[in-house]
Amino acid sequence: MKHDIFPIDHFESETTPFYYYDLHLLDKTLDTITECSAFPGFHVHYAVKANANPELLRRIAASGLGADTVSIGEIHAAITAGFPAPKIVFAGVGKTDDEITQALQAEIGCFNAESLPEIEAIEKIASELGKTAPVALRVNPEIDAHTHHYITTGLAENKFGIALSTLDSVIDRCLKSEWIEFKGFHFHIGSQIEDLEPYRILCRRINELQDKYPDLVIPTINVGGGLGIDYDDPDGHPIPDFKSYFEVFRDNLRLRPGQQLHFELGRSVVGQCGSLICRVVYVKEGVGKKFIILDGGMTALIRPALYQAHHKIENITSASPIMERYDVVGPICESSDTFGTEETLPLTSRGDLIALRSAGAYGETMASGYNCRPLPGSAYSR
Ligand SMILES: *Cc1c(COP(=O)(O)O)cnc(C)c1O
Repeated sequence: MKHDIFPIDHFESETTPFYYYDLHLLDKTLDTITECSAFPGFHVHYAVKANANPELLRRIAASGLGADTVSIGEIHAAITAGFPAPKIVFAGVGKTDDEITQALQAEIGCFNAESLPEIEAIEKIASELGKTAPVALRVNPEIDAHTHHYITTGLAENKFGIALSTLDSVIDRCLKSEWIEFKGFHFHIGSQIEDLEPYRILCRRINELQDKYPDLVIPTINVGGGLGIDYDDPDGHPIPDFKSYFEVFRDNLRLRPGQQLHFELGRSVVGQCGSLICRVVYVKEGVGKKFIILDGGMTALIRPALYQAHHKIENITSASPIMERYDVVGPICESSDTFGTEETLPLTSRGDLIALRSAGAYGETMASGYNCRPLPGSAYSR
């Protein structure tokens, strides 16, 4: 059995369910990102929404990455963790006046604006504060989802970004404003993207767009995030193929001299370093089925219920050579509170510990208090 990555002796003193973070793997992942992105003008930001755990944020900030945020709460969390304000960008379709005000006062590096009314709000607040707002425009690249099903945010019909058809007038609006400093273009095409072809398509789209504006000064191109992780084989692929990922942009994107290229990676930074550890409350004989009922469910890790995602399930305490089939479910009164059906696991008993792997991204941050359940805690490798 290979459970050497889990310090099970220490787990006995933790209250389940809890998130366990392998900080060595996080550090190795961060080192790999630093190495593989060492091309002129390349800067990586971490998408805080993937996981805002303070210990993880501190390490990510210390490694030199910037922060990509979507609320004033995330901006404060990033500043507290040590991200320098100029390396913080602020995205999101619904920034409130209060959030814009606080972000301007904090002197963050860039607003990624998604609509004309938002730009007008930023301009008004900036003029009242007497500050110039750095603004990049999120452009909807209108990439066809039929070729790549996981492209869900780069389509013409969704709420994200500024449509190509209205871009000219929005750029003009920014250039004419004395309170806005135009920083460039921002794109984000989707999440859990497992092959690199969509990124090649994105590069071509960006090249075409830049060619349309030969005289416009575009200091920064931001290509968003979305690089996927291997949920089926976290031990085989603990670190995503960052080398190939960054090389796609080096080889396909025609950056102008001195132009900066920003990335916003979330899942690929933290996904594999986290596991949700739950205890088996009961093993129940159903009709033609056996159920493992855990003390953690969709309130601790919602991805299976929300996106039909599957996390690899391991019994990390059973030493039994006998393998059995189980449905692995949480304790919540919802049929969707299921982590796996027909899972083959070693003979499992009440009290065993179960690890849901690859849960470092969109796990702890999406936990809820539904059913008045406490939020899961966290523990770290030593
Ligand atoms: C969610 C998001 C990201 C991060 O996506 P990952 O799939 O976790 O890499 C980056 N940029 C924007 C604008 C996002 O909304």
